[in-house]
Amino acid sequence: MTFHFLTLFPSAFGSVLSASLLGKAAEKGLVRYNVHDIRAHAKDKHRTADETPYGGGEGMLIKADVLYAAWKTVLPVPGPRARTILLSPQGPRFDAAKAKELAKYDEIVFVCGHYEGVDERFIEHCVDEELSIGDYVLTGGELPAMVVADAVARWVPGVVGKEGSVAKDSLEGGLLKYPQYTRPAEFEGRKVPDVLTSGNHGEIEKWRRNQSIERTKRKRPDLYAEWTKANETKKRGGRDG
Ligand code: SAM
Repeated sequence: MTFHFLTLFPSAFGSVLSASLLGKAAEKGLVRYNVHDIRAHAKDKHRTADETPYGGGEGMLIKADVLYAAWKTVLPVPGPRARTILLSPQGPRFDAAKAKELAKYDEIVFVCGHYEGVDERFIEHCVDEELSIGDYVLTGGELPAMVVADAVARWVPGVVGKEGSVAKDSLEGGLLKYPQYTRPAEFEGRKVPDVLTSGNHGEIEKWRRNQSIERTKRKRPDLYAEWTKANETKKRGGRDG
């Protein structure tokens, strides 16, 4: 899986993409990160990549022609295995299901807007979908692109160490993950729950499941309501079918 980032600020990416699991994934050849400087595709001597909007208004827009030239070098022949995504507060909210879906592509091109954003004609001509990472406005698409790339990379086989551990994370199956503890067995008077040191794997599984349900109910009543509804439908389906 190759992640391309089209940006006016290539220096924003290095430390995030080279650290920890994302860095190791690249070292192992499981993923590739290509950061492309949009400005390098500007034709004039001042390397102009952004200009004021037609009709007036504040801020600068990334120019369609310069961005298109950059995009064309990355995806000369866009195919069904490649996806071009514009990070934008106007897109639908990025979530776990979308991360899993995007992990099926061979190449993702992230277009990072900045300032006022991007000329609309580039969006119409080249962008497959827009994604927002939440209902707030950031200064640029670089952080959102890295957020999405991180969440997608976790679904590329081999990126997260132990088989199956991504499937057991929070939100998978509709519930939050149970609480976890490591040594020491006692910290500031707080002990690790006895069941976890009992060696009884059946009881541990049962405890973890109940904890997942309890904390989803408490921390994310919205998720809990969805999970309860889905469970009821499943049970009814089992009885009826
Ligand atoms: N003028 C734009 C508007 O009102 O929709 C906002 C532009 S924002 C200041 C600059 C860039 O940051 C956007 O083009 C986008 O790439 C990125 N950005 C800002 N907030 C974002 C969010 N919540 N999710 C994804 N990208 C975001």
